[in-house]
Amino acid sequence: MRVLKLTLVLACLLAVITAVLPTHADPRDLGRETLALNDGWAAEGAGTTGGAAATADQVYVVTNRQELVAALNNGVYPPPSNPSDVPKIIYVSGVIDANVDDNNQPLVCEDYYRDGYTLDAFLATYDPAVWGRTPPSGPLEDARLVSRNAQQARVRIRVGSNTTIVGMDKDATIRGAWLDLRGTTSVNRTNIIIRNLNFEDTYDCFPAWSPTDGALGSWNALYDSISLRNTDHVWIDHNRFEDVTTADHLLPHYLGVLYQVHDGLVDITNASDFVTVSWNRLLNHDKVMLIGSSDGAIADRGKLRVTLHHNLFASTGQRTPRVRFGQVHVYNNVYKIGGHVPHVYNWGVGIESAIYAENNLFTVANGVTPDMFMARFNGTAVHETGTLWSPPLPPPYQPVDARAAYNAVNDPDLAGDVGWTPTLFIEVEPTQQMARPVLRNAGPFDW
Ligand code: CA
Ligand code: CA
Repeated sequence: MRVLKLTLVLACLLAVITAVLPTHADPRDLGRETLALNDGWAAEGAGTTGGAAATADQVYVVTNRQELVAALNNGVYPPPSNPSDVPKIIYVSGVIDANVDDNNQPLVCEDYYRDGYTLDAFLATYDPAVWGRTPPSGPLEDARLVSRNAQQARVRIRVGSNTTIVGMDKDATIRGAWLDLRGTTSVNRTNIIIRNLNFEDTYDCFPAWSPTDGALGSWNALYDSISLRNTDHVWIDHNRFEDVTTADHLLPHYLGVLYQVHDGLVDITNASDFVTVSWNRLLNHDKVMLIGSSDGAIADRGKLRVTLHHNLFASTGQRTPRVRFGQVHVYNNVYKIGGHVPHVYNWGVGIESAIYAENNLFTVANGVTPDMFMARFNGTAVHETGTLWSPPLPPPYQPVDARAAYNAVNDPDLAGDVGWTPTLFIEVEPTQQMARPVLRNAGPFDW
């Protein structure tokens, strides 16, 4: 008995010591952290380690665009056509603006004008009252494309395999950039971690005018804050994505419709696979997350496996997410519907999609009802359980069967069996219990 007691005491002591020791002996280094075992689809196989194995000469602290681009390219600037796949850790300090020249001086849209392009001339030339409703063509449309490429050469920042990019503190910011994670159809990019960063105001100075897109036509912009194409094993964690100075409600209307300068926040397409998106704040944006870019992209079949957990989506329009083909686990996220951006829907059930939604929470401030939490785009089924909602704040929240609510007012109905059950997750928490931690802890933090 005494031996047993002593063993217990020793075991307890050991547990206390091991729990306390690492924080003292080994202060937290976000750059060396890797995705936890089983933490979503990015934990598949060997998991996601990013640049954790970087040697000392591949550890960078960057404070401006040029330093960031050089760090992604083995120190080389201007960068070669393909970014470096050598393991590297990049710490971002302060605010990095992508719309700058090589002397880090700010560039505005007019600085990218080429070949006689001006916005005024473009609007005057392609006004449907003058030009009609055929797509723009001719010298001014050509000049728009040349001008667009001039901006793209600044804002498009290519990220290679085996990379970790982390913010030094909660204020580390990348503004106006498009992080382009792109492999080829034969060789994927792989093993990338992006954490603890503020992504603000990714914008396209030269959106395309599409006169027959919608009843009135529309402006279609390029550039997501982060895009994944032919890329696997990516962990996007504790970031904030938000339009601030370019928020939609601050943008003008041209040719009768909103002059939309944004595309997605995080778009995952072109046979990308094994992605975990956790603990992010995604704010004030219309089209948030596209998983699968077209119904005809059958190379996406069996891929586009993504986990979304503990994210806050607030004042978003649509695509949180919109899914084609993929098995997508959506659990313990908080959706705050309201604010400046008109709500369209949350979960987009696209062709051959298999969304498995568990224990998500919705707060609604503008008359949106649970039948509007999802929308069908050639999909047939969605698994949805444990949803709570509150019309409007404050709590108490009420349980709701959002799929039944959708089916009650739409035909054809969405079935409930999506043909798979998630196995890669750590813990699906009770809906009410996770809400406060997500509201408080999602997004960047000081470490
Ligand atoms: Ca996109
Ligand atoms: Ca129905």
